[in-house]
Amino acid sequence: MHLTFSHKTHETSNIYTYWFKPLDHPKHIAGQFIEMTLDYPDPDERGTKRWFTLSSSPTDEMVSITTRWFGDKASTFKQTLDSLTKNQGLEVVDPDGDFTLPDDKDKELVFVAGGIGITPYHSIVKYLSDKGQKRKIHLIYAAKSKDDLVFLDLFKKYGCKVTTVVDETLTGAKILEFAEDYSEKLIYISGPEPMVESLYDQLKDHVPKDQLKTDYFPGYQTI
Ligand SMILES: Cc1cc2nc3c(=O)[nH]c(=O)nc-3n(C[C@H](O)[C@H](O)[C@H](O)COP(=O)(O)OP(=O)(O)OC[C@H]3O[C@@H](n4cnc5c(N)ncnc54)[C@H](O)[C@@H]3O)c2cc1C
Repeated sequence: MHLTFSHKTHETSNIYTYWFKPLDHPKHIAGQFIEMTLDYPDPDERGTKRWFTLSSSPTDEMVSITTRWFGDKASTFKQTLDSLTKNQGLEVVDPDGDFTLPDDKDKELVFVAGGIGITPYHSIVKYLSDKGQKRKIHLIYAAKSKDDLVFLDLFKKYGCKVTTVVDETLTGAKILEFAEDYSEKLIYISGPEPMVESLYDQLKDHVPKDQLKTDYFPGYQTI
């Protein structure tokens, strides 16, 4: 997929959304990710390639990614991303992944997000909202601080039940307590790899494996 950079929006002082115009509008399913390679001299040891969930909805004209900006600690990749100029072109691998909605529209959904792991849920809920499709969703959103919670307006406007967890560790037990009667619900978990692995391990003995869906973001150690 060929993209040209359009503009950047600030979700918070350190969480940015980068918007790109696709040459041909890609067919993607809300919740999928792309692989992006940037071309620049002297990359650091983490290299020139990253994966990003599309935070935009398939109903949007442009596509977006949303990421955390670590200022002077940012990788050379993120520094290059942040210095893209308007209309600068880049190639990305087409969207892929199955962290997407189930076909069964009546299935109740629990979306667990750690930090920037909120991105696939933004894409999904924006899509449902634009399409006027109603699903029962409970968002359980853990972040380092209140200031790091993004996109809450969309989730609340859509009618999601929203539980935020700030300044404390989200555990499997808390998820089950928040989700109440979870026996029939599909639980999605998205966020930093160590957090998702740990929550999956805590939940797998209580929830059937086919009711748990995970999306790992390597590169972040914590929310
Ligand atoms: C399927 C998938 C979807 C993803 N979706 C998203 C998404 O929507 N948004 C998103 O932001 N990320 C997403 N990621 C993760 C993304 O690909 C990057 O790994 C992540 O954003 C970190 O980027 P970065 O490595 O450029 O580091 P930075 O973001 O620049 O820094 C990340 C952290 O690493 C620390 N750090 C700095 N140098 C080093 C070093 N040498 N070694 C180790 N740590 C260091 C920094 O201090 C900071 O804490 C996704 C990954 C996958 C696999």
